[in-house]
Amino acid sequence: MTRILHRSIGPDLPRAVSGQGVYITDAAGRRYIDGSGGAAVTSIGHGNAEVLEAMRAQMDRIAYAHTSFFTTDAAESLADRLVELAPEGLDYVYLVSGGSEAVEAALKMARQYCVEIGQPQRRHIIARRQSYHGNTIGALATGGNAWRRAQFQPILPETHHVSPCYAWRDQRPDETAQDYAARLAQELEDKILELGADQVIAFVAEPVVGATLGAVPAVEGYFRRIREVCDRYGVLLILDEVMCGMGRTGTIFAHEQEGVVPDIVTVAKGLGGGYQPIGAVLLSAKIYDAFRDGSGLFQHGHTYIGHPVAAAAAGKVVEIMTRPGMMDNVQAMGLRLREGLKAALGEHPNIGDIRGRGLFCGVELVADRDSKQPLDPGLKTHAKIKREAMARGLMCYPMGGTIDGIRGDHVLLAPPYIIQPDEVDQIVDRLAAAIRAAV
Ligand code: PLP
Repeated sequence: MTRILHRSIGPDLPRAVSGQGVYITDAAGRRYIDGSGGAAVTSIGHGNAEVLEAMRAQMDRIAYAHTSFFTTDAAESLADRLVELAPEGLDYVYLVSGGSEAVEAALKMARQYCVEIGQPQRRHIIARRQSYHGNTIGALATGGNAWRRAQFQPILPETHHVSPCYAWRDQRPDETAQDYAARLAQELEDKILELGADQVIAFVAEPVVGATLGAVPAVEGYFRRIREVCDRYGVLLILDEVMCGMGRTGTIFAHEQEGVVPDIVTVAKGLGGGYQPIGAVLLSAKIYDAFRDGSGLFQHGHTYIGHPVAAAAAGKVVEIMTRPGMMDNVQAMGLRLREGLKAALGEHPNIGDIRGRGLFCGVELVADRDSKQPLDPGLKTHAKIKREAMARGLMCYPMGGTIDGIRGDHVLLAPPYIIQPDEVDQIVDRLAAAIRAAV
């Protein structure tokens, strides 16, 4: 009997009692490979003694100091390091406690920026269908995941959505990647003009779509086109890297691979690596300067922003993930994972696509490969895959049936960056066996 309202009310969950490297062990002594990092959280692996020591050292000094009164070395040095790692143009950092909080802060920051620069008429947010930006009201309204939004629709603020960049389904046979990117950029421009050329605050997108589509990167040139459209109309570009950022795709920021610099970036999950709940918003100097020269404040704030223990943990996680070899391992093991999955499952009649970037990999399931119809909009197969995988000692993240009511069945994989070849091969074997058993 549990007193916790778990995500799903149903069979008892195994109790996790320890974690080491890429493994989690439950109270019955069963060991699971953390093949999805929960949902792409575990970046440097479990049980890292250096991170625990950094947290302990911070707690020995001070565990908490309210950010209206004090700053701390831990928060300052984390911000410095994130700015150092970010492409030029992202110069300041706002520290929060997780992904949804980061997105909420980014949205408010963007709106306040418009007010500060004398454009208070700007009031619209545009995002993409089939996206996920978090579960709080503003973040949920921004996301385009129809299933997650459905019952809350009446209480969501108005937002606007355009198509995602989902080449495997939506690029036309007679279209090059460039044409496809141009068509999507035109769709964004049309939407901006429909709402009013000077009425839009920001466009929000995940560089690699995570929870809703399953590790779908954009086609080459898409984000450059989008950046041009945003610049033409003074629309801020917010990239949500809560899931795909902090090394997950083989570079610290996923957008480094797109050749654009956004105005605002959100990160979370991999930043704390699961050691502490933490997220961050990186912003450009033009936004910071507008606040400094205008009202002199960002009218926002939560009790735990800039938490020193979380910042100390994240500081050490970032130090570890930026050591020589770590991003190379993400790229090499990511390739091995995708190639292994293609060899094991590529011919399976219900596998439509295997894709991703770095250690962020999606396996899309279909009813049949020609029609690309979803396998099971009723979600039952996903529960079965999860059960079969857990029974084989693999944690993976199957999702789907959630997209515009019809499509997007997939399994997401996002193992820790320290994973070794034999562990990647075990993920492949266990997932292939689980899918064969469930489908
Ligand atoms: N943004 C993206 C892209 C996400 O994938 C998520 C979570 O999956 C969030 C925001 C919300 O993050 P959190 O669950 O930490 O609130």
